Amino acid sequence: MTSYIIEKERKTDIALECDVLVAGGGIGGVAAAIAAARNGAKVILLEREFLLGGLATLGLITIYLPICDGMGHQISFGLAEELLHLSIKHGAEKHYPKAWLEDGTQEERINKRFMTQFNPHIFAIEMEQMLLDLGVHVLYGSVAVDVKKEGDRIDSVIIENKSGRSAIRSKTVIDSTGDSDICKYAEAETAVFKNKNGLASWYYYYEQSEVHLKMFGLADLVEGHNTQGTGNETVEVISNKRYTGLDGLELSEMVINARHEMFKDIMEKKAKNPEYVPVTISNLPLVRMTRRLCGKYTMDDSEMHTYFEDSIGTICDWRKRGPVYELPFRCLIGDDIKNLYVAGRNISVTDAMWDITRVIPVCAVTGEAAGTAAALYGDVDKVDIKGLQEQLLAQNVVLHHKFE
Ligand SMILES: Cc1cc2nc3c(=O)[nH]c(=O)nc-3n(C[C@H](O)[C@H](O)[C@H](O)COP(=O)(O)OP(=O)(O)OC[C@H]3O[C@@H](n4cnc5c(N)ncnc54)[C@H](O)[C@@H]3O)c2cc1C
Repeated sequence: MTSYIIEKERKTDIALECDVLVAGGGIGGVAAAIAAARNGAKVILLEREFLLGGLATLGLITIYLPICDGMGHQISFGLAEELLHLSIKHGAEKHYPKAWLEDGTQEERINKRFMTQFNPHIFAIEMEQMLLDLGVHVLYGSVAVDVKKEGDRIDSVIIENKSGRSAIRSKTVIDSTGDSDICKYAEAETAVFKNKNGLASWYYYYEQSEVHLKMFGLADLVEGHNTQGTGNETVEVISNKRYTGLDGLELSEMVINARHEMFKDIMEKKAKNPEYVPVTISNLPLVRMTRRLCGKYTMDDSEMHTYFEDSIGTICDWRKRGPVYELPFRCLIGDDIKNLYVAGRNISVTDAMWDITRVIPVCAVTGEAAGTAAALYGDVDKVDIKGLQEQLLAQNVVLHHKFE
């Protein structure tokens, strides 16, 4: 007996058309959609869930890691800074960056890094409103399941939602699914994270008249790295089992096991204090690194303090004080597909660098560059780097760092 079926051939309606289709509404995708819309493109943002923000909101990863180098200098600007402000527009839950937002001294800025903790629900709704104000078509409950290619271009992305199966035709596509799903469907070269993912299940709880974030399964830190100045000092591993994050069956097992451990944790705490109650739990598998594009350039963590002529923004290492990186545009594009960019967790970096680039502020940096490039130039080989950089500078992005 064969272990597969042959589906009937079908005609799929083109439901929508646009200039830039952003697949995935996490921080990378939101930044890409904002940037593309601000640069005049007709944008559709496709999101599988019914809330924006991805891991940062539905996953309750509510810590906007630093946009400074830990030595008192701001490093990331543009949308990375703008979204940080938006995330605490109605108040920070914790880590209000007073020294940075209210004329702090250099010493205060060294002691307290430029980071914050936001409310996930408020941030998600603010991002949605911002996109709607920019005229972005936000399409919820819609999963990209395939692409239709014409030669080395994506002609359309096939989606499934409550209406069934349809296609969106777009001049360019930005893969911000976190798992490089579009790259995979388009048969672009990809790589998977060798060390896989540990279990985590963050949740909010109520105790002593306050709501707190419990970073259950907080850290998956690589040996030798610490988290200076970010407040994420406690390392907690809840299971040694590792998950790729790329297999449907395995993902369910991962979420069930993580919730089981979380539930035990809650019950233990509750036994000690009956007032201890969970308020909200993460609603996505908490995967850090899964699949990425193999781009024109694959950046490594050893390339700190290196000048890149095609830099699209500067970023720091959230785990350490000091290191600063310029991100080459070539990490956002590959050789195989002419109208495909990547943003967020999908960019082309080595496994060691991935731990630095996967975090919220860096996803905003890459999203802004991908969205701007797609809107201004369309195909990846038409991008005029100098022109793109001029536009990014006009958007308050800093491209190069003065390395001492
Ligand atoms: C346990 C854990 C702790 C972390 N701690 C921190 C921290 O303290 N601070 C920090 O800054 N970062 C932290 N991170 C990293 C950070 O949260 C994420 O890497 C970052 O938010 C990723 O953004 P993204 O937009 O690239 O991807 P995601 O947030 O994964 O967004 C992808 C979006 O695409 C959607 N999607 C996926 N596939 C499809 C599809 N086929 N079709 C349509 N939509 C699709 C998803 O629903 C999701 O909304 C942590 C991550 C984990 C797992």
